[in-house]
Amino acid sequence: MTDQQSSAAEPTQLTPMPEDWQRALAVVAHPDDLEYGCAGAIAAWTDAGREVVYVLATRGEAGIDTLAPAEAAPLREREQRASAAIVGVDTVEFLDHKDGVIEYGIALRRDIAAAIRKHKPELVITLNHRDTWGGVAWNTPDHVAVGRATLDAASDAGNRWIFPELSEQGLEPWDGVRWVAVAGTNAPTHAVDATPGLERAIQSLLEHRAYIEVLTDEDPEKYCRTFLTGFAEQLAPRFGGKPAVAFEVFSR
Ligand SMILES: [Zn+2]
Repeated sequence: MTDQQSSAAEPTQLTPMPEDWQRALAVVAHPDDLEYGCAGAIAAWTDAGREVVYVLATRGEAGIDTLAPAEAAPLREREQRASAAIVGVDTVEFLDHKDGVIEYGIALRRDIAAAIRKHKPELVITLNHRDTWGGVAWNTPDHVAVGRATLDAASDAGNRWIFPELSEQGLEPWDGVRWVAVAGTNAPTHAVDATPGLERAIQSLLEHRAYIEVLTDEDPEKYCRTFLTGFAEQLAPRFGGKPAVAFEVFSR
């Protein structure tokens, strides 16, 4: 093989995620959204003494076919808090939008902007806001709505004239978000080494046991291990051979 051919075959490398920050806020639609791929990175960050807070738009109450929403909501909330604790996240908040029918719009942007003003993150994390997963599977409207609203709210939070009612509630503008990092997109730009956090990521996903037991007949631990290990290893060729958690980073 000539040098030219080998460089043409070389996959585009992902850049290491920025490290010069102290506080992150992860905003997603449902319990388990962060555990399907992203929690390994969060474990590594909290290990390094960084602070990460979770905000969920819903309690995932429409996520279990065999369980009515009134019973599913508290169960999934408990599972989410337990899975957050495993990767070093103590604060989990819920915005109580309705699972499955989250509306992208002013109300959602305002709620997320309020959370950003309250927690003052430098890094905001969210989940795939694009139409599809890798051009293969159609994304859900909840993920699209929350992902887009989070990208928008990073700016809204810093402008005192957008949502002035938040200032009246004591939430002063916060224009300190430097990056919004989107997990699970078709177009990742950055990555974190998945290895140090992988075992905790598996345990963290496994905490969503009620959800997973309905989802698959496979042994839940085997299912979580296979999924997360495969997901991270698939990115290794793009991150110097290391299993990775990838993000599409939008700088501000
Ligand atoms: Zn979801």
